[in-house]
Amino acid sequence: MTKYDYLIIGQGLAGSLLTWELLQRGFKIIVVDNGLENASKVAAGLINPVTGMRLVKSAEVEHLLPSAMRCYEQLSQFFKQDFYIEKPMQRLLNNELLLTNAHKRLADPAYKDYVKAIIATDAYPYLEQQQTGFLQTRLLLSCLKQYFIERGCYRQTDVNYQDIQWLPSLNWQDMTFKKIVFCEGHHATHNPWFSWLPFQLVKGEILTLQHQSPLPDVIYNFGDWLIPLDNERSRLGASFDRVHLNTVPTQLAKNALLQSLKHSGIKLSELSVIDQLANIRPCTLDKQAFTGEHPKLPQLAIFNGFGAKGSLQIPKFSQLFADALINHSPYPSSIARYYATHFPY
Ligand SMILES: Cc1cc2nc3c(=O)[nH]c(=O)nc-3n(C[C@H](O)[C@H](O)[C@H](O)COP(=O)(O)OP(=O)(O)OC[C@H]3O[C@@H](n4cnc5c(N)ncnc54)[C@H](O)[C@@H]3O)c2cc1C
Repeated sequence: MTKYDYLIIGQGLAGSLLTWELLQRGFKIIVVDNGLENASKVAAGLINPVTGMRLVKSAEVEHLLPSAMRCYEQLSQFFKQDFYIEKPMQRLLNNELLLTNAHKRLADPAYKDYVKAIIATDAYPYLEQQQTGFLQTRLLLSCLKQYFIERGCYRQTDVNYQDIQWLPSLNWQDMTFKKIVFCEGHHATHNPWFSWLPFQLVKGEILTLQHQSPLPDVIYNFGDWLIPLDNERSRLGASFDRVHLNTVPTQLAKNALLQSLKHSGIKLSELSVIDQLANIRPCTLDKQAFTGEHPKLPQLAIFNGFGAKGSLQIPKFSQLFADALINHSPYPSSIARYYATHFPY
């Protein structure tokens, strides 16, 4: 039996950045993934500190954003690739509520780093937002996978829960571990030790568009969003469906997204849809992440529940989670908040 510190199950953005963090700290890790498409690869990777109709700041954004920027910069330097693309955002103010809130935020010093000005146009005005951009998650995960393979710490297989043994020590296959950390995204709802947590999964779909008209170098946000990739291609997303929790692209979502683009007033000539992807966001009841130990089996931990904000949250959470594993500091957004109300035994 070979001895390791941690077994990480899942190489989405959560498992990847946690593995990276633990490797940097000198631990012996095995990361396992079934190699299938996942939410992280499908995601647009948007980071937008000020969201929703209320144009409100994401919780803890002052801490999360600098951490995320440092992490993606460090990875860029290491792999000599750009992963995070910073681009300003134009938030269309197409109703009175949005316009009123935009004025409020501009007058509020707490928002000065994120909102810049309201720009009048022939149609609706828009709010210029800054410190926005997107993570090229598929590229990042592919670089990290290759790195894990080269370090001999990657295994591609579906982990069967029955193959995890407790005695005489915690082991899987021919390896023993101090702890197993489940980073399974939406698959956690089938995990026998963590499925009691109140996930509220949300399916999302994204289109890749081809068009003739080049767009300005900004992210458009009109409730849905459009991210120019180059002069002729953009990504348009994303739908929210809490009912049909599968990864099948639908005509309904495609039509709704194209309709929403049409109403935004953005003109794209010779538009065609060249790709459509669907996956499932690991959202949670209270919109907070799920991290921490199983209440009865502390050798098992979870790092999940990053919902629609994985790119912003996961870097800082990976650091805090690693601190908790090593120094026994509190887990960030610990699942202990649900031990009394949701744990069934
Ligand atoms: C359409 C869409 C758009 C999105 N847009 C954004 C966005 O703009 N910005 C943003 O920040 N977030 C966005 N998200 C959310 C983002 O994808 C998630 O927050 C984040 O990627 C979740 O990462 P994860 O690692 O927890 O899960 P996942 O990426 O799903 O990874 C889990 C991995 O674990 C593997 N796995 C599970 N069980 C096992 C097992 N038993 N054995 C082996 N492997 C296993 C899975 O196959 C998968 O590879 C979007 C999501 C979707 C679906």
